[in-house]
Amino acid sequence: MMTLPKFQFLAPETLKEAVELLDKHSDEAKVIAGGTDLLVSMKQKLFTPNYLIGLDKLKELKSTEFSDSEGLKLGAAVTIAEITSNKKIQEKFPVLALAAGKVATVTLRNKGTIGGNVLLDTRCYYYNQSFFWRKSLGYCMKKDGTICHVAPGSSSCRAIISTDIVPALITLNATVTFLSNSGERTIPLDEFYNEDGMEWRRIQPNEILVSVNIPNSPKGFKATYHKLRRRETIDYPMLGVAVSYVENANGEMENPRIVMTAIQSSPMEVPEASKLLEGKKPTQELIAQASELAYKIAKPLDLTNAPPLYRKKMVRVFVKRALEELAGF
Ligand SMILES: Cc1cc2nc3c(=O)[nH]c(=O)nc-3n(C[C@H](O)[C@H](O)[C@H](O)COP(=O)(O)OP(=O)(O)OC[C@H]3O[C@@H](n4cnc5c(N)ncnc54)[C@H](O)[C@@H]3O)c2cc1C
Ligand code: SF4
Repeated sequence: MMTLPKFQFLAPETLKEAVELLDKHSDEAKVIAGGTDLLVSMKQKLFTPNYLIGLDKLKELKSTEFSDSEGLKLGAAVTIAEITSNKKIQEKFPVLALAAGKVATVTLRNKGTIGGNVLLDTRCYYYNQSFFWRKSLGYCMKKDGTICHVAPGSSSCRAIISTDIVPALITLNATVTFLSNSGERTIPLDEFYNEDGMEWRRIQPNEILVSVNIPNSPKGFKATYHKLRRRETIDYPMLGVAVSYVENANGEMENPRIVMTAIQSSPMEVPEASKLLEGKKPTQELIAQASELAYKIAKPLDLTNAPPLYRKKMVRVFVKRALEELAGF
């Protein structure tokens, strides 16, 4: 049986108190929201914090605020279940509700939060294992060891970003707001990640994610999310593709975006495909060309339970399907 390491649970009553606690203990503490990812990792001894700082009592982080000028401000501790079932989110940001509905299972969505999803650890077949399993293999660079079993010649970790919601949020131009003792900062979500499996997020140890902010979508905005997984439930993505564009009055595509998850350590965009599609009406030929461009740049490695070549081939299939769905083909 895998047991949790010992820790002290701190339950701040206010955001101010939470920030102070995190500042005081940042080297030895982790913030816990739903705990659906963190607690599993702690049982696997990937993290052994002395303190867990719970967000459950912080009402400020659980609010869902809509405004005509600002769009949607989602508190970081809003659950994924709330996002999937909120009628206004379904109506105004359907791609967000769609991607959220593909996360894990109902029970995990009931506890898991949007903040935890944005900050989700990168995953790898050789890392998300029990302590015993990892020890028998000599550990790896991301935790306790020095080598990479996936790319032995690599000097950096290639563990993959595995969140379903982030690609959809990027198509929606979301920003994220953090709070620490030094104040508040907001950055675009598409600038938040690094291409490094160990340092994939631009967050300081004393920062709390307080909100995910989504501007109102322009008229004609269309987006969808397609997910590849073994079973239609519980499984993390082996590939996720969010696609969006604004359809103008002439039926042409403006600001087309393709954002993929589970390919590399950060969300992967396909700028060449965006350039190709910009200002044109969708056709089967154009879609095939854009899908081919995505296929070419995607280079998944062997770190999920599906062969990398299969995942690469599915990039072409999924980008094509997603674009065809938006075009109504
Ligand atoms: C079996 C299983 C299947 C899963 N399948 C999927 C899937 O298909 N798709 C998917 O996207 N995810 C999946 N997950 C992962 C997880 O359930 C979700 O990503 C969920 O949204 C994580 O949210 P949480 O609140 O539980 O995060 P937690 O586990 O509480 O936290 C995750 C990380 O974020 C940090 N954190 C959380 N909130 C804050 C905050 N406000 N400020 C600072 N740091 C914070 C924590 O310190 C931790 O590092 C799965 C998990 C399991 C166990
Ligand atoms: S990619 Fe390499 S270093 Fe990173 S978690 Fe996997 S085996 Fe470890």
